[in-house]
Amino acid sequence: MLGIETSCDETGVALFHTRRGLLAHALHSQVAMHAEYGGVVPELASRDHVQRVLPLLRQVMDQAGVSASQVDGVAYTAGPGLLGALLVGASVGRSLAWAWGVPAVGVHHMEGHLLAPLLEEPAPEFPFVALLVSGGHTLLVDVQGVGRYRILGESLDDAAGEAFDKTAKLLGLGYPGGPALARLAQQGDPGRFRFPRPMTDRPGLDFSFSGLKTHALTTLRDTPADDTLAADVARAFEDAVVDTLMIKCRRALRETGAGRLVVAGGVGANRRLRAALAQMAEAEGGAVFYPRIEFCTDNGAMIALAGALRLAAGASAGPEIEARARWSIEELS
Ligand code: ATP
Ligand code: MG
Ligand code: FE
Repeated sequence: MLGIETSCDETGVALFHTRRGLLAHALHSQVAMHAEYGGVVPELASRDHVQRVLPLLRQVMDQAGVSASQVDGVAYTAGPGLLGALLVGASVGRSLAWAWGVPAVGVHHMEGHLLAPLLEEPAPEFPFVALLVSGGHTLLVDVQGVGRYRILGESLDDAAGEAFDKTAKLLGLGYPGGPALARLAQQGDPGRFRFPRPMTDRPGLDFSFSGLKTHALTTLRDTPADDTLAADVARAFEDAVVDTLMIKCRRALRETGAGRLVVAGGVGANRRLRAALAQMAEAEGGAVFYPRIEFCTDNGAMIALAGALRLAAGASAGPEIEARARWSIEELS
């Protein structure tokens, strides 16, 4: 199964074999190109995908030693994401499938993130609770099997990654600031400021992260500047996000009775979050599963895998090119 990902600012291509696993994968990140503008510029993203996708495809097929006649299906990200960016991968993917006479599968990007831990050993068994924490989404999902998803909770405002990026910007850390903020937080004093844990004092599994960014802003404004202020604010912010996510994951595990928690999406690369969830899961008698760090953010491997599982379950797209900017994961069920 060939997988093509172009939903945002990464061009990802991969080949996945149902029995042998991942054969090859390649990625080009546009992060450096967009950094200059402080965020993703959609038009530039689309143009760059156009330039990158075929060379990456050739690279992956050469690396895997796979010829066109050996490909049994083509999976491409059909949404959600930037429409112009999605259209690049969707057009290329659908056209290749048509030329090669094999089925095409339009994959939901968040289903890709959600299934990415299945690329690892040991793979989590169904059912599980998935925490999807990326640049555009914060979701807790009850996963009964491939294509059987129920949203337990989601962010009412900013996504976790978005909150990291916006707060990083306040701290002058550039874009995307999540990893830079996490690095700065390592030098911060956890005892200096305490930020709220939004929506943890009432029942429910929804999130709200935009208040934490405002909290960071007012703290920076109201505290006389000193050498460690930025690091201490970064630490207080990170601790608040991590603690909030941990509390909601624990609640979701208890409410569903699921012993397994799967974490995916870019914020899943955060080391302090991983440590907190590991500790919580151990105390609850459960286990946490992650994709390898490089597959936490966007990649072609998760799309190839999701496409393979979908195809095995009988899915196959029609002749049209599918691309949807907005698309709830619950619509897959
Ligand atoms: P979506 O999948 O919702 O469309 P996306 O694909 O842009 O969004 P990802 O590529 O999965 O999101 O993740 C990128 C996000 O992860 C960014 O917001 C980035 O700041 C954040 N991120 C990456 N590494 C870390 C880290 N170590 N700590 C905190 N945040 C991080
Ligand atoms: Mg990205
Ligand atoms: Fe993503």
